[in-house]
Amino acid sequence: MSIKKYLAIIVFWTVQVSALLVFAVPFHLAYLALWAVSHFLRAIGLTLSFHRYFAHRSFQMNRPTRFIWALIGTAAMQKGPLWWAGHHVNHHRFADREGDPHSPMVSGVYYAHIGWFLNDAKYDRLEKSNPVIRDFSKVPEIAWLDRNYVVPPLVLAAGLYLLGGLPWLVWGFCLPTMTLAHATFAINTVNHLFGSRRFETLDESRNNVLTAIFAAGEGWHNNHHRYQRAARNGFYWWEFDPTWYTIRTMAALGLAWDVQRVPTRIYEEARAIKALRPRHKIPSIIDAIPRAMEFSEDAESV
Ligand SMILES: [Zn+2]
Ligand SMILES: [Zn+2]
Repeated sequence: MSIKKYLAIIVFWTVQVSALLVFAVPFHLAYLALWAVSHFLRAIGLTLSFHRYFAHRSFQMNRPTRFIWALIGTAAMQKGPLWWAGHHVNHHRFADREGDPHSPMVSGVYYAHIGWFLNDAKYDRLEKSNPVIRDFSKVPEIAWLDRNYVVPPLVLAAGLYLLGGLPWLVWGFCLPTMTLAHATFAINTVNHLFGSRRFETLDESRNNVLTAIFAAGEGWHNNHHRYQRAARNGFYWWEFDPTWYTIRTMAALGLAWDVQRVPTRIYEEARAIKALRPRHKIPSIIDAIPRAMEFSEDAESV
C-alpha cells in the first residue's frame, strides 16, 4: 500500500473518532442546527452533483452552478467528483455481481461499507472509457477538484475553527462528516440488504425510509436501480427526496433544465407488480429473476 493511502486511512479514522469530541465541548441547540446544515447541504452536494448529475446526467446545469455544487459535494470528504461518480457507474454496471466495487453480496458488509473506499485493491481504477472520465475529465475546474479533493474539506474545517473555535469545528465538521460518510455508505450496504422492493430488479436494491432521510433522498434505491436516469429517486410525493426538491427549485429559477422524469411505463410497471405480488412479501433475487426478465427489455444504461 502506498504512503498516500496509509495517510488517507489515518485521516479518515481520525475524523471518524473526532466526532466523539461532541461530548467534550459545551452543547447549544444552535450547534445541532450547524450539524444539520453541514450534513444536509453537503449531502445534497453529493447526491445532486456527484450522483444525479455526473453519474446519471439526470438534468443539465450551467458551468458555474455545476462547479459550486461539485465544490460542496467535495467538501463532504468522500474524494473527488470523477472518482465518486466513476465508481458509481461501475456499481450500476455490475450491481451485486463480480465487478461491483461495493456489494455486500459479493464482498461482505464491512468491505462494502468502508473497506472499498479506503483501500480497494481490485477495482480502484477507472477506465478512460468510463462515461464520467470520458466526458468530464477534460473540464479543467472539475479535473482540478478531483485532483485536489483534500482542499475543500480542509478549507471548511479551518474556516469553522477560525469562526467559532473547537465547538464549531466539532459540530460543523467532525460530527457531520462522520454522519454523512455513513449516510452515503449505507446506500451501498443497508439499501442492498434491508427495505422493500417495489421493482424486481436484477440486484438486491431496496427502498428504505431511514436512509432516504439521512442521505437526502437517496434511500429510494430500488426505484433508482430500476430507472437511473430520473432526477428524482422518490418516485411519489410521499417519498421524501430533498435533492429532487432542490433540482425542481433550480429548474423553476432557470438553473436546471432537461430534467429527466420517471416515464409513465415505469409507474405502470410498479402498479402491475403490486397487483401480481402477494402482500408483505419481499422477494429475494431468486424469486425476482423470472419477473425481472419480463420487464427487462427496456433495461437502462447510463
Ligand atoms: Zn445500489
Ligand atoms: Zn446511481
